[in-house]
Amino acid sequence: MKIEKLELFKVPPRWLFLKITASSGIVGWGEPVLEGKTDSVAAAVLDMEEYLIGRDASRIEDICNVLAKGSFYRGGVVITSAISGIEQALWDIKGKFLNTPVYNLLGGAVRDKIRIYGWVGGDQPAELVTQAEARIKAGYKAIKINGCGKMEWIVTPAEVKKVKKRLEELRNAIGDEIGIGIDFHGRVHKSAAKQLVKELEEFQPMFYEEPILPEYTDQLKSIAACTTVPLALGERLVGRREFKRLIEEGVVDIIQPDISHTGGIWETRKIAAMAEASDIALAPHCPLGPIAFAASLHINVCCPNAIIQETSQGIHYNEGADMLDYVINKDDLTIKDGFIPNLQKPGLGVEIDEAFVGEMVKVGHNWRNPVWRGEDGSLLEW
Ligand SMILES: [Mg+2]
Repeated sequence: MKIEKLELFKVPPRWLFLKITASSGIVGWGEPVLEGKTDSVAAAVLDMEEYLIGRDASRIEDICNVLAKGSFYRGGVVITSAISGIEQALWDIKGKFLNTPVYNLLGGAVRDKIRIYGWVGGDQPAELVTQAEARIKAGYKAIKINGCGKMEWIVTPAEVKKVKKRLEELRNAIGDEIGIGIDFHGRVHKSAAKQLVKELEEFQPMFYEEPILPEYTDQLKSIAACTTVPLALGERLVGRREFKRLIEEGVVDIIQPDISHTGGIWETRKIAAMAEASDIALAPHCPLGPIAFAASLHINVCCPNAIIQETSQGIHYNEGADMLDYVINKDDLTIKDGFIPNLQKPGLGVEIDEAFVGEMVKVGHNWRNPVWRGEDGSLLEW
């Protein structure tokens, strides 16, 4: 079964889909995307096309190894994102060829359904509560919010009070049964992080995500000393080698690899196994489209240390087209009472609505994250 054709589809809100056709006529889908760098990843995929055409589609490990290490200069997150999407499509092809869901090729299911959380926005407490209640009504038992907005290096007492009040009102409104993940988005520096994790602890968040930028994980220990809330990190790290450092530092409680950045399904499975050996949980990051989401679900099904999966469904980025708009078998990817049952269809188990994709390609996108500046005009982390 040889790889015959690669096709890319740049679609809103900020995604890139890849369709690989194999000589048997089987088609596999992947999502090679890096938010804000779509065209760079598309160029990287096209650069890899020459090597891929005519290759045996079943040799996933070897293909990815060559794409990652076969050239003298190795890539960063743009290259690994390109490889991730190609890799997902190859697993989709393999599963369809063998007529089984991908997780059956990765050790089989260790659970029957996957716990899901959804993002909730809102700067003001009332807005946050309204959005959280809508998620709960839709069946969610866990949500994630931004911990704070723009943050200077040193935070004022007023800012700390505002951050605290927002979470307090949310917790009071939705009760103790709902998990609340808090994403600091790497926006705060170490000193402010130490203060905030302490102040918010009484509301018992499910985890603190990126309380510090991933390049400073050697400093995570000082933040962990200030709280008992689990620390989560990893959406910007790629490959086993970057996660190795994080795992060996021994401070992180939950790793959050992104299946469309870190190297794909198999790479994520290997990273999960490394984490499991250190009693670290897995909660894959996924603010992306339906293919990346389905691929992430397969990882959750087969990894004993997977605890929860993020979905981009209904996320604020998804203006103009939401995740399930691209899917024919919408019900398979719909949350039911906090969970999504294991996918049953062969391959990744997501049927892409190609007619809708064709329409949305005409719309396209040029998504960029905002550039934030502080009061003095200097750059702040978004
Ligand atoms: Mg995050």
